[in-house]
Amino acid sequence: MKVGVARETAAGERRVALVPEALGKLTAAGLEILVETGAGAGAAFPDSAYAEAGATIVSTADLYARADVVLRVQKPSEAEVGLLRGGQAVIGFLAPLIEPGLAATLAARGVTAISLDALPRTLSRAQSMDALSSQANVGGYKAVLLAANAYGRYFPLLTTAAGTARPANVLILGVGVAGLQAIGTARRLGAVVKAYDVRSETKEQVASLGAQFIVLKSVADATGEGGYARALTPEEQAAQQAELNGHIAAMDVVITTAQVPGRRPPLLVTADAVRAMKSGSVIVDMAASTLGGNCELSKAGETIVTDNGVTIIAPDNLPATMPAGASQFYARNISALLLHFVKDGAMTYDFAEEITVGTVITHGGQVVQAATKKLLEPAAPAAGGSPA
Ligand code: NAD
Repeated sequence: MKVGVARETAAGERRVALVPEALGKLTAAGLEILVETGAGAGAAFPDSAYAEAGATIVSTADLYARADVVLRVQKPSEAEVGLLRGGQAVIGFLAPLIEPGLAATLAARGVTAISLDALPRTLSRAQSMDALSSQANVGGYKAVLLAANAYGRYFPLLTTAAGTARPANVLILGVGVAGLQAIGTARRLGAVVKAYDVRSETKEQVASLGAQFIVLKSVADATGEGGYARALTPEEQAAQQAELNGHIAAMDVVITTAQVPGRRPPLLVTADAVRAMKSGSVIVDMAASTLGGNCELSKAGETIVTDNGVTIIAPDNLPATMPAGASQFYARNISALLLHFVKDGAMTYDFAEEITVGTVITHGGQVVQAATKKLLEPAAPAAGGSPA
């Protein structure tokens, strides 16, 4: 069976689905690896490193013509969709719930689409495949480095002959995978760290990393399904914002990571809260996208400085800014998922098994994953209205 590694073509994407050191495990399983020329260049892995690890370097046309499975990070471009063919599988972050139309197109072409962002993450046997976690980890780390870089003072307490620098006060909002890594990184740099999440189980995790958990009197636990947070009611959200404002004003750095699956990220740092911050403070909004972010003033993909001197950074793809490290973890995840499907040298799909049910979005010319299928169903006609 031939496994192809695609060169990413999305703007700013520097990661690659497989790194050379990950090839050994796949070739040992009898797989032949084809690498699209230049696939690893953005992450500083030259074609020669893949060739030395046993891969064949091929042109774009050859990759799509010869591979049985194409591995990638981001969804294929329109041109790449046109190169994929029936019977071929593609694995990557295909975002079927955000772009169900792509799934429909791939199904129509007879392509089997397998999406890493649809993995059932709470299964312990799926942990080695959890690319959302590995990439959020990179993001949490990098967010702190960006904040430290933009902050015009020290993070640690420093006593020198020239005087004493007090440590930075850092607040992390949202303590999932990214938030936990951000806490650990800010602590390692010597900052005094506080953190807050609506899931009360995170309290102990925050304490174990040496940070202080902020308890809000106005909001009860909001743990939702699958270990994620549920969306707050408008009343809860208003109370949360009002109570958080007091904490935010005292901070030098605020890093926000809060997400609620399938919804716009919750608004945690209002424009008023930003206006109350000191000049020189820094906000990194990891949740920012075109849908909005955790900070009312953040602009996705941009860094702005407010009139009162607060820098707001809203990076759109942090893992891509640490491409070799992020790709190393991603390669482990995608290899584990690929090997899950390989039986006797071929891709095999057992639709009674949870990882297959979750991640296989299209197969045999159909959209098969329930959540994506539901999004593609024509909306029911409104009561009393006539069907279009
Ligand atoms: P995420 O990216 O969906 O959200 C980040 C954090 O934001 C979450 O901790 C969430 O509770 C928090 N949040 C949401 N709304 C908020 C609000 N209004 N105010 C404050 N915080 C808010 O989460 P994630 O990092 O992908 O994962 C979250 C959790 O999912 C994990 O901590 C874990 O419980 C579960 N998970 C489990 C496994 C596993 O079992 N192997 C793997 C990955 C994730």
